Amino acid sequence: SKTKQPKPDWIRIKLTTGDNYKEIKSMMRSKTLHTVCEEARCPNIYECWANRTATFMILGDICTRACRFCAVNTGLPTELDLQEPERVAEAAEQMNLRHCVVTSVARDDLKDGGAYIFAETVKAIRRRLPLCSVEVLIPDFMGSEEALKIVMDVKPDILNHNIETVERMSDRVRAKAKYERSLQLLKNAKAMQPDIPTKSSIMLGVGEQWHEILEAMDDLRSVGCDIMTIGQYLQPSPKHLNVDKYYTPEEFAILKEEGMKRGFSHVESGPLVRSSYHAHEQVKSAERN
Ligand code: SF4
Ligand code: SF4
Repeated sequence: SKTKQPKPDWIRIKLTTGDNYKEIKSMMRSKTLHTVCEEARCPNIYECWANRTATFMILGDICTRACRFCAVNTGLPTELDLQEPERVAEAAEQMNLRHCVVTSVARDDLKDGGAYIFAETVKAIRRRLPLCSVEVLIPDFMGSEEALKIVMDVKPDILNHNIETVERMSDRVRAKAKYERSLQLLKNAKAMQPDIPTKSSIMLGVGEQWHEILEAMDDLRSVGCDIMTIGQYLQPSPKHLNVDKYYTPEEFAILKEEGMKRGFSHVESGPLVRSSYHAHEQVKSAERN
């Protein structure tokens, strides 16, 4: 494999802890709740929590797949937890969230891929926090339209599904997922609920080429995808895929322009951008369009 690329300056994390952050952090400790923000050691945690945005991981913390960029544990998942939707909603309420992202591991062991629990979680959050927007970041449900429909029927504020990388790198980077299937999911979601904004994300630095990034944008627009996020891949551990390239902030800015030219309603593009970063702003911009 290649020699390790040094981390450039702009990857360093700015440490600013506001009051909201401290408040939420102590509440999380007392409740032993699980957010992707904490468990993935997301660099945006201070900013997001200060803005009352958080991402919950449902359906357990063990994934049936093993993508080469992902730090989540792989194995045989735990039992289905039917109380989980209510617990997540309770946490969201205690955090007084304005925007709540709900995501999960891939549960290929479940017939509906976990779609029912997603739907129940959206409903539970709405009951407790009617003003909080809810974004679901879903796995591909193995392409099941039935499963997707269960989620679309509760009308999440944003339907998010990540293609993760460009077409050529897809098989190498993602386990069991398929580029075409992910595009089809986004297309189906749009067909089922045309008014619900769809969103997808790619991470850069896994070996893709510039023109392939632009092609991925075109592909997303061709299935009506409204919002795109673009971030830098960071290797979670030495066992994971090496970083092939660190893109500069200028390159991310150019990609944002390229995306806006193509008609996305919102493009979030930067080294530390993650799928749920500035998500509450995307709800607003999607509504404007
Ligand atoms: Fe949490 Fe997403 Fe914000 Fe990271 S970007 S802190 S995972 S809400
Ligand atoms: Fe990680 Fe999702 Fe891949 Fe599972 S399917 S290994 S959670 S990226």
